[in-house]
Amino acid sequence: MVVGVLKEQSGESRVAITPELIRKNPSFASFLIEAGAGELAGYSDDDFSDSGASTEKKRKHVIENANIIFSIRLPDDTTIRAIKPSTVLVGQFNPLKNIEHLKSLARVGVSTFSLDLLPRTTRAQPMDVLSSQGNLAGYQAAVYAISSLGRAFPMMMTAAGSVPPARVLVIGAGVAGLQAIATARRMGAIVSAFDVRAAAKESVESLGATFVDVQHNEAGDGAGGYAKEMSVDYRRAQEAKLLEVISRQDVVITTAQIPNKPAPKIITAEMVSKMKRGALIVDLAGESGGNCELTKFGECVSYDDKRVVAPANILNDIAYTASLLFASNLISFAKTLLRFENGMFSFDIEDQLVQNTLVTHAGTVHRVSD
Ligand code: NAD
Repeated sequence: MVVGVLKEQSGESRVAITPELIRKNPSFASFLIEAGAGELAGYSDDDFSDSGASTEKKRKHVIENANIIFSIRLPDDTTIRAIKPSTVLVGQFNPLKNIEHLKSLARVGVSTFSLDLLPRTTRAQPMDVLSSQGNLAGYQAAVYAISSLGRAFPMMMTAAGSVPPARVLVIGAGVAGLQAIATARRMGAIVSAFDVRAAAKESVESLGATFVDVQHNEAGDGAGGYAKEMSVDYRRAQEAKLLEVISRQDVVITTAQIPNKPAPKIITAEMVSKMKRGALIVDLAGESGGNCELTKFGECVSYDDKRVVAPANILNDIAYTASLLFASNLISFAKTLLRFENGMFSFDIEDQLVQNTLVTHAGTVHRVSD
């Protein structure tokens, strides 16, 4: 079996395989890598060659010789048209937003698996790209805040005087939020956090942060462990609580998401204006509209003397590690769910993980109208 890996489109620094994983999986497949594919993530062509992979300057050659293509994001139209029928394509493709590309893949006869549709179950965990990448995004959001706040995070007692610790509020205590909490805590900040799901309180407190309680009896738990959209009444109670809490914060990191819906708007301009001078909001929900009403995706907005930053692809700043974990997710998926015999792939269509992730197969687009 030949695994092909292409250079991602511009704006994406990660690569879908790393030399370390190729070395760790010698009998899994042979790997054919487009020259320069790993460059932005810190992996040179020589690193790939040393690991046993072949590197190839001609993109078309990689596409035509691959039985399966590992990819971070959806390939462009030209690439899709060049893929051979019955090739398998695996990555994180945000199917609901990319229906036209999926139709093209179906027309070509590609079987496409989008790992962002995996259920959040124990069995799926080793393949769960949302978790591996969300975890790093949360870490990187805290690192960004630490490096650009312009103030120290930990309390410091020095001969020149003492410095109070920074205060950080994390909104949304899922995978990214919990890692942001842990990272800010490690750097000595006083951290509080807030989420609508009941189970989040225990997770927040187990990391040594304070849970911000909104006095309201509505539960935020939706299907599959995700949050649901909250009522207007709840949102009023949440706003009142946040207006009180936010004025003490140096940093707010927001990560709140609701599946297949725009991100909930939680931070109003009024709240931002009440924050401390120089305060910073890092909004990780920017791609789905943002958790702050001032957010502009991919930009840093100044408001009074505060900043609202919504990085377009924060994982580019940690692309080496993000690639390693992403590639590990892809290999786990392929090893667990795909069989390759006599030049053909087969998979158990009844398997829940296959059912959830298979978005194009046998000329048809699946699961994109959910
Ligand atoms: P997500 O990215 O969908 O959302 C991030 C967080 O925002 C969630 O915690 C959500 O509750 C919260 N949120 C939504 N609306 C909010 C609002 N109005 N105010 C405040 N917070 C709000 O979530 P995720 O990080 O992908 O995690 C989703 C769920 O899956 C969690 O319950 C997580 O523990 C679970 N999970 C399970 C596994 C596993 O068992 N294998 C793996 C990963 C995640």
